[in-house]
Amino acid sequence: MKDVLEFLGTGAADWSMNDRGPFFRRNSAALLNGAVMIDCGPHIWDYTISTYGRSVYQGVHTLLVTHPHGDHFCRESVARLADGRRLSVLGDEATVRLAGSIEGVDAVPAPLFEETVTQGYTCIPVPANHAPDQESFQARHYIITTPNGGTVFYGLDGAWFENAAWHEMCRHRYDIMVLDCTVGDKADWRLFEHNTIPMLRIMAEGIMEKGLLKEGGRIYASHLARTLHASYAVTEELLSDFGVLLAYDGLTIIF
Ligand SMILES: [Zn+2]
Ligand SMILES: [Zn+2]
Repeated sequence: MKDVLEFLGTGAADWSMNDRGPFFRRNSAALLNGAVMIDCGPHIWDYTISTYGRSVYQGVHTLLVTHPHGDHFCRESVARLADGRRLSVLGDEATVRLAGSIEGVDAVPAPLFEETVTQGYTCIPVPANHAPDQESFQARHYIITTPNGGTVFYGLDGAWFENAAWHEMCRHRYDIMVLDCTVGDKADWRLFEHNTIPMLRIMAEGIMEKGLLKEGGRIYASHLARTLHASYAVTEELLSDFGVLLAYDGLTIIF
C-alpha cells in the first residue's frame, strides 16, 4: 500500500485570506492518508472547500499539533474537525490543555523522544528550535511512521535542529522530510526560530551526507513567509540547486 501526503497549507503566519492570488499560501498544515492531520490552523476549511467543494476530513482520526501558535492551532477549526465524532489530539502539555476542553477531543500528551501509537501510526516528537517562551509551550517536530511503513519527518516550525533532536532523527530513514523555509535568501531576525534558504542548504547537505533519505526520498521546503521570499520560480530554482523541492498548497505526494 502507498502513503499519501497532501499539503493543506504551506505559508507562514503572515498569510491571510485577503492575500488570495497566484501562488497564494494558506497557514501550514498537512494531511497523511486522509487519517492524520498535522496542525489545524484557521485556513484548513478554506482549503478543502476551495479545492474539493466539500470536506475531505471525515476520515481524520488523529491531529498532531507541532505547537499552539495561532497559524498551527485554531480552536474553532479543531472543534469543527471533532464535530460529531472522537478526535485524538497529540501535542505538548500546553496543547493538551487547550484542546482538552473541546467536545469530541481526546487530548493525549505525547512526550518528547517517546513513541506514541495511534491507530497504527507511530509518532515520535522531538524538540523544535522554535519556542519563544519555554515556560508556555514546547514546540516539536514529528517523526511519523505509517501502518504501511512509510516515514515522514515534519519539521515546522523551527530553525537549526537541536542536537538531541538530530540524534533521534538519525535513528530513522525518511520517505519525506518537510523543513521550515520561512525566511528567504537573506538574513532576518527570524533566523533564530526559522530557517533561511542558506541554512536549508547546509541542513539538506547534512541530511544527505548522513543518508537519512530512503531511496527516492525527498525533502520539501514549506512554511514560507509572504514578505520574505522572491517569486515562486526564483525560490524553486534556489532550492533545486541543493536538491530541495518547494511545496505548495494542494501538492499531493504518493510514496
Ligand atoms: Zn507557523
Ligand atoms: Zn510558530
